[in-house]
Amino acid sequence: MKRVLITGGAGFIGANLARRLLADGHAVTVLDDFYTGQRANLEGLGVTLLERDVREPIPGEYDWIFNLACPASPPHYQLDPLFTLTTSIDGIRRVLELAGRCGARVLHASTSEVYGDPLVHPQPETYWGHVNTLGIRSCYDEGKRAAEAFALEYRRACGVDVRLVRIFNTYGPFMDPQDGRVVSNFILQALRGEPITLYGDGAQTRSFQFVDDLVAGFLAYIQADPARLEAFFAPKGCAIPVLNMGNPGEFTVRQLAEEVLRQIPESRSALAARPLPGDDPKRRKPDVSWAKACLGWEPRIPLRDGLAKTIAYFRGLA
Ligand code: UDP
Repeated sequence: MKRVLITGGAGFIGANLARRLLADGHAVTVLDDFYTGQRANLEGLGVTLLERDVREPIPGEYDWIFNLACPASPPHYQLDPLFTLTTSIDGIRRVLELAGRCGARVLHASTSEVYGDPLVHPQPETYWGHVNTLGIRSCYDEGKRAAEAFALEYRRACGVDVRLVRIFNTYGPFMDPQDGRVVSNFILQALRGEPITLYGDGAQTRSFQFVDDLVAGFLAYIQADPARLEAFFAPKGCAIPVLNMGNPGEFTVRQLAEEVLRQIPESRSALAARPLPGDDPKRRKPDVSWAKACLGWEPRIPLRDGLAKTIAYFRGLA
């Protein structure tokens, strides 16, 4: 049994991770300020709740810390860009200070957004990215890039065992219906008979990972023996473990809309063009060969099956 802290644990990924950790017999504490997290996601679960801001010093003693605290959907992280930046940067500092004090192992949720609108396809961990530092996404992208730098330097200077995971588009039960993300938007619009809002021409691609695959990856990664990680990453010139986690199956946003409508045959919705938001990446697809070689992990749930489970979840909410 491990003492586990999940910062941002009332959010979509945290809610799924907390359930899996509790099912595995661990003691779970969730830190959340409910800026985007949902109280309902934790109801009746039996987690210890620390309702506080991750930018403040964090009390307690833990074996594992998952640092997920940060608004993550474009509409949410653009609402208060300074909050997003400071949550990323001050948040990881607080987590690393805590880990340094109690000897916890840290898994930090980074993001495919560190690659920006990538010029290399698919994106391996060695790609440095193509990010607009002054664009509307930079509060998120640059906050997350700075957080990676903090993790690296704390690891080097203080020996904190921190591991980075760059998460690609992920979907599944407990997504926030208000999040504005493409999967939740399309499903809810199709269920309500509203227009399916296709931004731009819908030809931009994303690779959609079902959340159970990501949670399985998290658990394999946090449990990996430090010496094994060192043996894997040091020869690659990486001073910190860094792994992509995502599903390499690549779909256009239009294809996603069509699959959602196929799975909700009673829907009266039709596709409706909307303006493309600024700096929207044109293509995104993870190279997950390192995660496979290092952890034996790869995603197993195809989009069709994951969508069916997610649609069932959203139907249950109606
Ligand atoms: N998108 C869309 N309609 C929506 C929401 C999003 O066409 O209602 C597009 C968006 O422009 C992007 C992709 O879907 O190209 C994924 O958007 P999301 O906000 O889910 O995540 P991102 O990968 O952009 O962070």
